[in-house]
Amino acid sequence: TPLPDYLARLLAQCDSGDGGQLADYIPELAQADPHKMAIAICTTDGVVYAAGDTDYEFTIQSISKPFAYALALREHGLDAVLRKVGVEPSGEAFNELSLDERTERPLNPMINAGAITTHALLPGSPGAGRAQALQALLERMTGRSLQVDEAVYNSELETAFRNLSLAYMLRNVGAVQGDVSEIVAGYTRQCAIKVNVQDLARMAGILANQGRCPRTREQLFDRKLVRQVLSVMTSCGMYNGAGDWLSRVGIPAKSGVAGGILGALPGQFGVAVFSPKLDEAGNSVRGVRMMERLSGDMGLHVMEAL
Ligand code: GLN
Repeated sequence: TPLPDYLARLLAQCDSGDGGQLADYIPELAQADPHKMAIAICTTDGVVYAAGDTDYEFTIQSISKPFAYALALREHGLDAVLRKVGVEPSGEAFNELSLDERTERPLNPMINAGAITTHALLPGSPGAGRAQALQALLERMTGRSLQVDEAVYNSELETAFRNLSLAYMLRNVGAVQGDVSEIVAGYTRQCAIKVNVQDLARMAGILANQGRCPRTREQLFDRKLVRQVLSVMTSCGMYNGAGDWLSRVGIPAKSGVAGGILGALPGQFGVAVFSPKLDEAGNSVRGVRMMERLSGDMGLHVMEAL
């Protein structure tokens, strides 16, 4: 069957039943339409195949983290970034108040402690400037201009007490410098950039293609950098669901609390799914279901695909 037909069928097969809950610690996300659902694949030739609510926009949330990490690596180099943020899976929730006991660094850049530290390494002025720098990178990757969802941004910022406490903890150990509330505002803004599944698939396609944009042929990141980002996504991208995800789905991936999941299969393609209801680890329930079925149907598990 042609890929578009397959994707449409996959979507229908994974639509049944529900389970999961809308993220409600960000009040605005509790207003999301739980029935929205979409999938997109971007090949290493830059062709995008998609099904479902393919133009529907949602906030990128934690899927911004691997790209902020990539931008920080591009700006400062691997050693400098590693001195600030580790690469060990935490086995804890994404918003856990934790640091590596020995080094006093955040464990990895995919949990909030590490992502806030990474955000502070971005070029641009504190506050909106750093989020703007990341947005510019994402626009280059997707080939279109993106917007910040101001309602989600404001809603999250009004209730960002936990991220503020993380940032104070980071400020206390010297992982970040300067005005803590400005850093949290910038990080929150980075998370509120709006994308659709096709955008995410294109971004994933660049990671799958060793850092070269399949669409423009531009080398956006060098190969070693992409290797680093994909490694961290593999070990830490799905939070405390990372081990379960790796064994069942086997595709380096990153999820976000708005319901998106981005996956990159090196040398093959980028994939993205979306559906707002989440499991306990904060990963999209129907998104995980779609990715698991796609991986099984096509034999994509990295430990299996030869
Ligand atoms: N902006 C969200 C937060 O910091 C991102 C979390 C996520 O997507 N898991 O809590």
